[in-house]
Amino acid sequence: MARRFTEDRLVIASHNDGKVHEIAQLLVPFSIVVESAGALGLLEPEETGTSFAENAILKARASADGSGWAALADDSGFSIAALGGAPGIRAARFAERADGVRDFEWAMEKLYKASSDAEDKLAWFTCALALAWPDGHVEVFEGRVDGALTWPPRGNLGFGYDPIFIPAGAQQTFAEMDPDAKHAISHRAIAFRALINACFAPA
Ligand code: IMP
Repeated sequence: MARRFTEDRLVIASHNDGKVHEIAQLLVPFSIVVESAGALGLLEPEETGTSFAENAILKARASADGSGWAALADDSGFSIAALGGAPGIRAARFAERADGVRDFEWAMEKLYKASSDAEDKLAWFTCALALAWPDGHVEVFEGRVDGALTWPPRGNLGFGYDPIFIPAGAQQTFAEMDPDAKHAISHRAIAFRALINACFAPA
């Protein structure tokens, strides 16, 4: 049984305003005061974990320890079967050029060139969510959406690797889909549904 969240305050362990806003919106029905790690001046730990779950836990723990409140973190990425699951947890860093600027057009082309000879087009997005309490307890939830790699990139909605990913059963890439349609089936949505059902929804 997962531990229920009964506190009235939660830190979102992220310095990304878009992510903080998206998570805060999901928690509106539960009347929780939401703060962000960025607004509280909490430091971002290095993502030294070897899995999405480990990195989400690292981030949630750092914010729970630094604030004394429960904290929620997510870690996500994109994997290609023909590349043994790469770039996986390194998806964001894989798109960084030497000057540190992220360039997803360049990153998508690198992935295409590395995998274009392979027959296996399976790819997937993963999202891990970690909810950490100041007493050390942590709950972790994962969501994964499978699909196929496509080339050339299509669509200009979404972000990151969305233009080269067609979720199973769909014709459009994530970047061509209406954002609500993507959010209904995404890796993040699956992980959030699991978190809400286990820790937040009325018993
Ligand atoms: P994080 O902020 O460390 O979790 O970085 C996750 C990275 O994975 C992002 O920078 C994107 O490259 C990729 N990613 C995660 N979720 C998505 C998605 O829904 N669409 C496209 N790319 C994603």
